Amino acid sequence: MRCERCGSKAFERFRGKVYCRECFATRYIGAVESCVRRYRMIRDGESVLAAVSGGKDSVAMLSALNGLSKKMNFEVSALYIDLGIGEYSRKSEDSVKSLCREYGIELHTARLEDYGFTVSDVSGKTCSVCGNVKRYLMNRFARDNGFDVIATGHCGEDILSNFLKNLYSGNIQWSEKQKPRLDGYDRMVTRIRPLYEMSEKENMLYVLARSLPFVEDECPHAPPSTWKEIVYEIERRIPGFRTSVLRNLARERKGGNEVFRYCRICGEITTSEICQFCRNIARFSKNQ
Ligand SMILES: [Zn+2]
Ligand SMILES: [Zn+2]
Repeated sequence: MRCERCGSKAFERFRGKVYCRECFATRYIGAVESCVRRYRMIRDGESVLAAVSGGKDSVAMLSALNGLSKKMNFEVSALYIDLGIGEYSRKSEDSVKSLCREYGIELHTARLEDYGFTVSDVSGKTCSVCGNVKRYLMNRFARDNGFDVIATGHCGEDILSNFLKNLYSGNIQWSEKQKPRLDGYDRMVTRIRPLYEMSEKENMLYVLARSLPFVEDECPHAPPSTWKEIVYEIERRIPGFRTSVLRNLARERKGGNEVFRYCRICGEITTSEICQFCRNIARFSKNQ
């Protein structure tokens, strides 16, 4: 088979057409660009801090942002958050380093170790602690260093499976946060999801098309992704389900941010007296 755009050796199908590696990559970046523009994710001249874990999704995001930054007039830097998960974290950090070197992108690192614990010290609900720690550290880092926007590599399936999970457990207000651009308020920095309408498979194929360095292993603490399998199953039976729900979720709804207060210990925004991050420190840190 041949590329339908240039006639070179075929690589893979992208949204109905067969492309060579180069044309696949070009079409992919074009799709990310339309997604970023559709939801007005980045404003003129903004500085974007891309949170990169070294996995295929965030690597594809950093590469796409790097490809779009001149054309769309914004700046990109990368942030790697070291959660201290042994060999997995070391491999991931090396991989992010080599990617940033290749692109000439400035790489920052925030280490959970500096707060007296790592994800390896966490017993029980590792993934919720991990998610809290990442959101907290990226927000503080971005704000302290004057970035306008934090970009994360969440793809369509991540957003839909989170949505279903939260619907199941009754956290309906969480669906408010599953937006392509969540404007900042008070001490919270604006967050964007440039891969909002991209699928995991498209991200993986892009990374392969460009031979980008990425870490293949899953986080050793990640649970089996039942919700994601359900999302795939619905998409198989109702083609177009993913895009349709994502676009509905992105619509403006009434209601502002929930009432918040400041953590008594660190001063970050929280809904309780002491924020979840400081409660995690109290439970797991050896610095006390
Ligand atoms: Zn081609
Ligand atoms: Zn706190």
